[in-house]
Amino acid sequence: MTTLRNAHLSYSRLTRFELCPLSYKLHYLDKRQAEPGIPLRFGKVIHAVLEHLISEVVVDERTGTLSEDRAVELFQEAWSADGLTGLDVFEEGMHILRDFVREEGVVDHRDVLAVEKEFQLPVGPFTVLGFIDRVNWVDDETVEVVDYKTNRQIFTRDEVDSSLQMSLYHVAAQRLWPWAKNVKLTFRMLRHGIRQETTRTPEQLADALAYVETLGTQTETAHEFPARLNANCIYCDHRMHCPAYAEALQGRPHLICEDIRDLEAVAKEREQVARLAKVLYARKEELEGVLKAQLRDRDELVLGGVRYRMFNITSHEYPLDATLSVLADATGMPRDELLGKVAVVEKKSLDALLKDLGKRLEMPRVSLLKAELEAKAEKRHSPRLWAKEV
Ligand code: SF4
Repeated sequence: MTTLRNAHLSYSRLTRFELCPLSYKLHYLDKRQAEPGIPLRFGKVIHAVLEHLISEVVVDERTGTLSEDRAVELFQEAWSADGLTGLDVFEEGMHILRDFVREEGVVDHRDVLAVEKEFQLPVGPFTVLGFIDRVNWVDDETVEVVDYKTNRQIFTRDEVDSSLQMSLYHVAAQRLWPWAKNVKLTFRMLRHGIRQETTRTPEQLADALAYVETLGTQTETAHEFPARLNANCIYCDHRMHCPAYAEALQGRPHLICEDIRDLEAVAKEREQVARLAKVLYARKEELEGVLKAQLRDRDELVLGGVRYRMFNITSHEYPLDATLSVLADATGMPRDELLGKVAVVEKKSLDALLKDLGKRLEMPRVSLLKAELEAKAEKRHSPRLWAKEV
């Protein structure tokens, strides 16, 4: 490659291309005015508040608890500067910030190495630019990279462990603080008050950098930028100018399979309908969010001949010990026998435990343990269609 159209990459630039080439083209090549939706603007407002709040501690060289009043004041300023509206969203912001102040506890300015730290990473012919929300000192060999997220959904374990963003931040942190032998990577999920933590091996970092270079090269050599409808179209800041999104909202598939013996046509229509379903489902969620916000203050809404109400779904979980005691008292059956009849170990909890053990035990021991548990598992099979682009 001789001359690069753009030698500067960023995580958001790369993910935009990865997620939807048309969005990339509209944003970076055509330089169309982005129209970020409320979730994106809200996220920026919260980030701005947290950046200010922690920066003030560092600049003033303070140690102590954060001021909730100051957080609220900063939020009001950032909210007004952005021009956001909506009491429900405003209240969400207040909750997030109050919880953040409480969870932070005592903040020692000496533990904060950086806030909104800029970095530049050479990767092949490119330079990756970015900002890390916050970097904490953990001990003489460890730094913690923190990325604030206002996502409604928490990440899956796989998403955390394979996040390209975190891999880039790890490499950046190693360059910025070369004394750090260990880098801890933390997503602070602000709506949920939880930390999703991960680490990277040298091999994972090398793979991530090779991937960035490959993706960067793809952005340089691409001649076509197709729309790729996906569940995140609802958040796309160019969706109002995207013909594919407009058509998707009308639920209009292009390809209608007229002969179900033509399996290629069946598969093409199936993929198209699956993508439309994701877009429509996400839009339904967005619209329902508006109605649910209205139903906070009233019992029901009647709109367009439809009655809307909220109702509670109750799910039950029975604590093992207490439940076994009640059953044993009532039936006279031994606890062991009852345990065998009513208790099973959830796969999710077992996987989390094994993942945790994987950090402390030798890999062969963990693999052996997994195999033993697998042999004990009672399996039920239900047929399901699996599809992946090849
Ligand atoms: S709305 Fe969806 S398909 Fe259209 S540009 Fe945005 S991400 Fe791409």
